[in-house]
Amino acid sequence: MVKAIVGANWGDEGKGKVTDMLAQQSDVVIRFQGGANAGHTIINDYGRFALHTLPSGVFYPHVTNVIGNGVALDIAKLADELEQIEAQGVPEPRLIVSDRAQLLMPYHILQDTYEEARLGGRAFGSTKSGIAPFYSDKYAKTGIQVCDLFDEPRLRERLVAAVELKNVLFEHLYHQPKVSADEIMDQLLALRERIRPWVGDTVSFVHRALKEGKTILLEGQLGSMKDPDLGIFPMTTSSHTLAGYGCVGASVPPTAVADVICVTKAYSSCVGSNTEPFVSEVTGEAGDELRRRGGDHGEFGATTGRPRRVGWFDAVATKYGCMVQGATQVALTCLDVLGYLDEIPVCTGYEIDGTVTDSFPTTPALLRARPVFTTLPGWRCDVRGCRDYDALPANAKAYVDFLEAHIGAPITMVSTGPKREEITYRTPKL
Ligand code: GDP
Repeated sequence: MVKAIVGANWGDEGKGKVTDMLAQQSDVVIRFQGGANAGHTIINDYGRFALHTLPSGVFYPHVTNVIGNGVALDIAKLADELEQIEAQGVPEPRLIVSDRAQLLMPYHILQDTYEEARLGGRAFGSTKSGIAPFYSDKYAKTGIQVCDLFDEPRLRERLVAAVELKNVLFEHLYHQPKVSADEIMDQLLALRERIRPWVGDTVSFVHRALKEGKTILLEGQLGSMKDPDLGIFPMTTSSHTLAGYGCVGASVPPTAVADVICVTKAYSSCVGSNTEPFVSEVTGEAGDELRRRGGDHGEFGATTGRPRRVGWFDAVATKYGCMVQGATQVALTCLDVLGYLDEIPVCTGYEIDGTVTDSFPTTPALLRARPVFTTLPGWRCDVRGCRDYDALPANAKAYVDFLEAHIGAPITMVSTGPKREEITYRTPKL
């Protein structure tokens, strides 16, 4: 049976922690989309980790970790990450890298960087990891698959064709130096050796695991708002962030996905550029305080270190985010962060052109939306580390009940701290 852990919002909802918890009871953990452009924070007995490419099951010797065909694979980053966890004392993980995954190339990173510079004030706030050019090339069919690394004449032919196109852009649009196919070929052959032991047929592996009744966890990156089809296009990422895409990017049959665990934070955070619509944003001193108190070390991007924009819980976006994920249950993280507040606003509607709605709109209307808040009483105490839902203060439980009623999906887990065991289990009221 397959479970998916995905984000309901803009990413950074705390999926890493929830995946880390559930990985313990799983046989296989699969990354199915995205690349090294976002990170999961995991805190366990080995230390604190920001994983970008490796699945969150790498800390468990019984888990087979899979980098699925849907991932944008930056081999150099993967190899570095493996070395880094080893240096922190983690035993060598079980890992399979799909032979159908495509390679994120050095020219993707250059193109991403040059394009952001060209756009100037209109830039998307890309992490410059090459993700948009990577997926563009995949769908333009000029991408290179992991399996191509093991067929040198084919690799060279595909590389020369891709480089020819890139150099037209680099020379004439960006006025930057051309790249050399020969140099990239040498780099790829060296990198190939670093991943050779891990490469395999993950499609057969996954289907075999399902036949054997294994539990498979799909680990999503970012969240619903960042999906290029159903999110806040074009301020989205370039791969699908929805559990449904796991059927493609991890090659699991749609009928096998039995559980979709949507992760959302007890407040909002968003790491994109300032031009991104973020309706429930809190700015000024109140925002600074929430940012400072948020997450485990304040709200700063795990990959970029950028300060995240923060806001009150957005029930409109989260209801939609859970709906498009097909959430069967919701994990609410970071409840402990809000313990300092007398009152807590929750965004329960958007006012757009004088009309209040709780339906999440398309981007042009979203950009005009103003938040409508309902204010709830705070609980004014520290619940960090609490493991018993019933022991939480009445106002904290009332806050969770209120969110559940507004997002329309059952909240089954409420997280009270960054560590794996800092979690409470709740009987949903829906
Ligand atoms: P992901 O990309 O969805 O895995 O999210 P990140 O790991 O980037 O961001 C979540 C942040 O919140 C990290 O700093 C976590 O360590 C932290 N975190 C997760 N759950 C909790 C929680 O319940 N309470 C607190 N205080 N921090 C949490």
